[in-house]
Amino acid sequence: MTDPETLDERPLDGQVAIVTGASRGIGHAIALRLARRGARVACVATRVANAEGTAGACAEHTDGARAFGVDVSDTGAVADLVGTVVKEMGGLNLLVNNAGITRDQLLLRMSEEDFDRVIGVNLKGSWNFIKASTKSLMKCRGRIVNITSVVGLIGSPGQSNYAASKAGVIGMTRSVAKELAGRGVCVNAIAPGFIDTDMTAALDEKARGDLLGSVPLKRMGTPDDVAAAVDFLAGPSGGYITGQTMVVDGGLSL
Ligand code: NAD
Repeated sequence: MTDPETLDERPLDGQVAIVTGASRGIGHAIALRLARRGARVACVATRVANAEGTAGACAEHTDGARAFGVDVSDTGAVADLVGTVVKEMGGLNLLVNNAGITRDQLLLRMSEEDFDRVIGVNLKGSWNFIKASTKSLMKCRGRIVNITSVVGLIGSPGQSNYAASKAGVIGMTRSVAKELAGRGVCVNAIAPGFIDTDMTAALDEKARGDLLGSVPLKRMGTPDDVAAAVDFLAGPSGGYITGQTMVVDGGLSL
């Protein structure tokens, strides 16, 4: 894959992007990649202090990167944050809904709280940002990229809450794509497979070994493998693609 060091075209110069869950992992890689492409990135994490490292790294490549803190499941706080970004960063061209959590447990042992929290962060959190961003995105024929998961397509034992949230994101992506197509806003999802981040580091050795054994390309994905797909959908190449789910999984879901 392309080495980010060699990304010298800046098709996103002058654009403003929001990336949620930008403190680490996939969100960090996405924010940095968009900054290298010229975007001014609003890096969002649960706490502002957690997003400052990513915003600092982005600032080496673009002017005006900022760190923000919000719980994505809080509808009112998300609306306020998006309003601040639009006002203080000069509009909004791209929204990347990446924040997500797992609370894995077999169905019979899963608590209602763990079901609700995962739906609240992964699905409602994405809806909150889409709703708050749509008016601004319609003004500039902007883009939305939602990070879902192959688990939303193929399911996974112990992840009924997570799979439901991610399948919901895919359905929401298609619906919003149809709603906003007339305004020139492209809305897509990316479904990563087994990516090397803190989220998958939490899996035990056996689960990691089993998962890796089922990846035809015989390696875990990197956060930048996912960031490259966001880059494609956010840039000039993605202008005639909407309502799709791009699977970035080394063949895991085949
Ligand atoms: P991670 O745990 O390393 O990072 C998650 C990010 O989301 C962090 O920045 C965290 O602060 C943020 N976050 C969590 N809850 C939040 C909340 N309530 N409000 C605001 N921010 C919140 O995870 P990752 O592996 O980088 O995953 C990023 C996205 O990719 C998630 O949506 C995840 O479901 C998805 N994904 C990951 C994998 C994988 O293998 N790692 C596979 C498929 C999909």
